[in-house]
Amino acid sequence: MAKQQTLHCSFCGRSRDEVKILIAGQDGHICENCVEHAEEIIEQELGNTTDNKHTNTPTHKLTVKKPVEIKAFLDEYVIGQDDAKKILAVAV
Ligand SMILES: [Zn+2]
Repeated sequence: MAKQQTLHCSFCGRSRDEVKILIAGQDGHICENCVEHAEEIIEQELGNTTDNKHTNTPTHKLTVKKPVEIKAFLDEYVIGQDDAKKILAVAV
């Protein structure tokens, strides 16, 4: 209680007060806005890669991932996609 620590979204930099939800990761946080945008990007990406019909991933079924997993996934994804990173930064 004595220690007041203001948490920020590691992706858009918004503070805890500026967002509704701040999900804690291993060494960062992500707000609901960034999750939404990331989800859109991921959906687009997954939608575009259906040329190969070997993958049978049901897009309607959303599997709930742990924050750490989301963070790890986003990290991996964003690092390889400079454009996506830019979109994320601009969109928020
Ligand atoms: Zn954010």
